[in-house]
Amino acid sequence: MTTAIGVVMTDHIVAGRLHDQRLTGELLRYPADRDALDELPSIPGGDLLELLATQISTLAARESAPVNAIGVAVPGIIRHGIVEDSPNLQQIKGMHLATELARVLAERGINAPVHAANDADAIAAGVAATRGQLDRLTRVWTIGNGIGYGRWPYVEGVWEGGHITVTLDPKERFCGCGGVGHLEGIMGYRAMRMRFLDLEPEEVFANARAGDSRCREFVNLWHRALAAATASFIHLAGPGRFYFTGHNVGFLELDRLRTHLEEMVKMSPLISYSLEILPPGDENALLGAGVAALGALSF
Ligand SMILES: [Zn+2]
Repeated sequence: MTTAIGVVMTDHIVAGRLHDQRLTGELLRYPADRDALDELPSIPGGDLLELLATQISTLAARESAPVNAIGVAVPGIIRHGIVEDSPNLQQIKGMHLATELARVLAERGINAPVHAANDADAIAAGVAATRGQLDRLTRVWTIGNGIGYGRWPYVEGVWEGGHITVTLDPKERFCGCGGVGHLEGIMGYRAMRMRFLDLEPEEVFANARAGDSRCREFVNLWHRALAAATASFIHLAGPGRFYFTGHNVGFLELDRLRTHLEEMVKMSPLISYSLEILPPGDENALLGAGVAALGALSF
C-alpha cells in the first residue's frame, strides 16, 4: 500500500491523506470559516509553510503507516518545486516550496519527499486517477478569479493557458497580468468587474438571461473566448477530454461552448473531444496532488 498526503493552497488550505490513490479520513481545512477567503494573501510566506506543515504533521500522525510522498498544489507557475509566479499569493513568488517545506517538515520528524504542482495540473491528475485514465491526456480549465489550465500527464512547460491570446482587439486589456487580448482578461472574475464597473459578474449573466443586449453580447464573447482557447489546445495537442471547474463554473453553458467549438475545430481527426463540468470541491485537486507526488517518486 502507498500512502501520500495531498495539500491544496488556493484561497484556503485543505489537506487529506491518500491510501492507494484514494482519499481516506477527514480533510483538514484552514481557515475553518468557509467564508474567510481573503486571509491567505496577507499571511507571510514563512507562516504559510508552518500552516502547511501543521496540517501535514497532523495527518501523518493519524496512522502508524509511513507516508511515502507529500504533494502540494498551488496556483501559478510551478517548476522543479519552485513557485516562479503566483499572482494571487504574491508572498510565495520565488519560494523553493518543495525544498523549504521539506526542511520545515524534517524539523518535525517527517522526511517524506515533497512534490509541488500547479493546482489545475493537480485537478487534472485527480480526475485522471478517479476515472482510471492516468494513461490518457486530461485537460482542465479552472474558472475563478483567474483562469487556470491544467493537464495530465505533466510535461515540462509553463502552460499558462489562462493567458493565451484569444483576441486581437487592442481594447481588451483587463487581464491581471497586464497582457492585451488574454483569455483571463475576458473570463476572469476580476476582469469582468473591471469591464462592468456598474454590475457584478453575477448580474451580467442574469441580465443576459433576461435579454439585456449588452450583457448578452458579453456572455457570448465569454463563451467564444473559452472556445477559442480550447480550440487552440485541440489544434496543438489533439482532441481528448476537457473538464471545467472552479468557483465560477456556474457561468458556463456547455452547449453554447460546444456550438462555438464546432465552428472553430473542423479537421476530422480533431473532433472527438469531450467536454464535462466537474462538481465543485477540493477532492480532485487533493487527490491529484498526492498522485503526482507518488508519480514523481518513480521518475
Ligand atoms: Zn494575462
